[in-house]
Amino acid sequence: MEQVQRMCQVCRNRFNKKDLNRFVFDKNQLFVDNQKKHNGKACYVCKNKTCLDSILKKKVFNRIYKTNFDTNQYENILKEIELANTTNKQN
Ligand SMILES: [Zn+2]
Repeated sequence: MEQVQRMCQVCRNRFNKKDLNRFVFDKNQLFVDNQKKHNGKACYVCKNKTCLDSILKKKVFNRIYKTNFDTNQYENILKEIELANTTNKQN
């Protein structure tokens, strides 16, 4: 079976979906889509630490969604990712 691949918005490499964090911007809300099925404008960033760090450093979502997200929103998003990844490890 062919794996669906998506591009990481930071390093521009392609990954299988399970190695990516999915983000959705919908109704003016930016959030992590851990279920990977929420409708809205989605983008992906891989799970490498350098890429995750760059999300805040480069404020990548500002460019992708042409919206000015503040640092707080980025920090919340990153906390959510961290939390999700910790939960996955425990399962
Ligand atoms: Zn990446």
